[in-house]
Amino acid sequence: MAWSNSADKALRERAAAVIPNGMYGHQSVAPLPDGYPQFYAKAKGAYLWDADGNEYIDYMCGYGPNLLGYGHPEVDAAFTAQLAKGDAMTGPGVVMVDAAEAMVRQISHAHWVMFCKNGTDATTMALMIARHHTGRKTIIRAKGAYHGAVPWCSPSPNGITPADRADQIFCDYNDPASLEAAVRLAGSDLAAIFAAPIKHDVFVDQEPLDPEYARRARALADETGAVLVVDDVRAGLRLARDCSWSLVGVQPDLSCWGKAIANGHPLSALAGSEPFRRAAGTIFATGSYWFAAAPMAAAVATLKLIRETDYLERTIRIGDRLRKGLDEAAEQHGFRLRQTGPSQMPLIFFDDDPGFGKTYFWISALVRRGVLMHPWHNMFTCAAMTEADVDATLERASDAFALTRAAGRIEPIEALLARTR
Ligand SMILES: *Cc1c(COP(=O)(O)O)cnc(C)c1O
Repeated sequence: MAWSNSADKALRERAAAVIPNGMYGHQSVAPLPDGYPQFYAKAKGAYLWDADGNEYIDYMCGYGPNLLGYGHPEVDAAFTAQLAKGDAMTGPGVVMVDAAEAMVRQISHAHWVMFCKNGTDATTMALMIARHHTGRKTIIRAKGAYHGAVPWCSPSPNGITPADRADQIFCDYNDPASLEAAVRLAGSDLAAIFAAPIKHDVFVDQEPLDPEYARRARALADETGAVLVVDDVRAGLRLARDCSWSLVGVQPDLSCWGKAIANGHPLSALAGSEPFRRAAGTIFATGSYWFAAAPMAAAVATLKLIRETDYLERTIRIGDRLRKGLDEAAEQHGFRLRQTGPSQMPLIFFDDDPGFGKTYFWISALVRRGVLMHPWHNMFTCAAMTEADVDATLERASDAFALTRAAGRIEPIEALLARTR
């Protein structure tokens, strides 16, 4: 069946009438490549089908939740079994205690956990607990690092007042001197240092964590009595079977989890070490669906697979194969790519591509060939991807490189030019 997007276009027209801007959030930040689908009909394993029935090998993995494969049989069996018994009830299901025990067992620094729905709930609770615990206000976080979609941390200024952003100091990720300067500026009012596990900001190359930065953050938090928070919402369980900073031997006080912990079912969590238990137990934190039991049953099943399978090694192997193959294919067509981030969380830019024109053109050609990639947000591999999926991707990528080469001079994406200046 030839690729087409007439159903998607029709849905966008209907959406424009009843949904502001037809779309909000991460799919509306900047225009996506031509032909990029907005609406999806179904998903299974490593694949996704859009509203027109086009099939994709999906390197976005739902922007993170798909870790083991969409509709994973064991996870979904646990979810549906609990759903049949009871989901959102008057109080939590008995499975909440199993899920909490499984999280605490999985995360070295954690002695307790609180479940919530979105990653933003977890980062916001971390903020409140740090302020309540220390009796101080100021937090330090890295410029460009995403922590969620509420007034204290929204990446957009629209609808946000200066008061919403008060008591925050920004530093440069991976720059210990910049972090030290921020700590000096905070003086005796420092409540928390927030940190991403790696630099996985949008629109720019990713960077691995500098272990020296992590150690400085830990030492500065200890010296000042501030709380060290690692926001593992996106990278959690993708870099390690533990908090991501365990890879460099640094343990945070609080860690934020979401996206992959229930393999696509709505659940997030805040985990903490012993000294913060009292403050955590005395903030007011809740939501109508926070105690729903079925996603917690999915988390228990997911965490069992995390412990018992080679899912992590598999996502890395798949990512390595993709990265190496794409570099070779690009070179054959006279292009150079900048592939950054861990190979299981790839981000791919064409070198020498101001305004992302070539990247957009290439991804648009990939979309028409059944490969879903993203032009400026990190992607993901999942454990359901096979070597054959990667090889099919590479073949189609090679065709897309050839088309990009044949197109000659490609115009930049106007809306994105400013971001690269
Ligand atoms: C996605 C994300 C969040 C917010 O999670 P939501 O579930 O979208 O609220 C916070 N931090 C990081 C690093 C994320 O990637």
